[in-house]
Amino acid sequence: MSASRALASIFLLGAAACGPPPDFTVRGMDVYVETDASFAGRADLPARLESTVDAALRYWGGDWRDLQDVTVTLAGAQYVPCGGNASSLGCYENGEIRVSTRDPGIGTFHCVEQTVLVHEVGHAVIGDPLHTDPRWMGLDPVADELAGRRGYTESGEVECTIWLSVWRHPIGSR
Ligand SMILES: [Zn+2]
Repeated sequence: MSASRALASIFLLGAAACGPPPDFTVRGMDVYVETDASFAGRADLPARLESTVDAALRYWGGDWRDLQDVTVTLAGAQYVPCGGNASSLGCYENGEIRVSTRDPGIGTFHCVEQTVLVHEVGHAVIGDPLHTDPRWMGLDPVADELAGRRGYTESGEVECTIWLSVWRHPIGSR
């Protein structure tokens, strides 16, 4: 191995230790795209994710400073690991929001607004892992704000329908 290749290997190891670079950053929040859902490959993803998080922050009474050290991962798998739970659609844990881009009933989501991101931003702002706050069963103002947007499939554009049931959670249950 030449000296320069050895140096390159060391550099790569160093980079891996610090985590891979994000796919993009919104308002200082690193976003990792690990899904091949059609919406995730569109040029409007950063702006759509930003406005979705912004609407969620206002609903939960937070602001972007609450997400200063938070990362978001859009996962391709049906479920994301979360604590001891292997069948979560989303998770907020250790400063990381992970959301699946698939729903067991609906299939692959058509837009980032349909994921449980709005719900997980709630955990990042208010905590409340046991869902005792009544706002977990509200969320209509966020749905109204994000309604009427465009969604994407492999074959073209569709409506980005918001299902409140994806974001909501029964009060007092984990
Ligand atoms: Zn939750």
